[in-house]
Amino acid sequence: MTARVIRIDLDLCQGHGVCVDEAPTLFSYAPDESFAEATPRPLSAEDETLARRCASDCPTGAITIEEAS
Ligand code: SF4
Repeated sequence: MTARVIRIDLDLCQGHGVCVDEAPTLFSYAPDESFAEATPRPLSAEDETLARRCASDCPTGAITIEEAS
């Protein structure tokens, strides 16, 4: 099975923090809190479910789940 990771499009992210509130184990704020950062580790099945929910709830559509390169 191919590992998947979270990507955040920083041109779209506006730092609302919905993802950080929903999944603090996967997302955190950048030091200046202007955008979010995602864990770089490959996602477990449970993490992927949570990450996909966050992607759906992100108000700017900045979160995608992609195959690790
Ligand atoms: S919910 Fe979306 S816009 Fe808000 S901080 Fe997370 S990635 Fe950025």
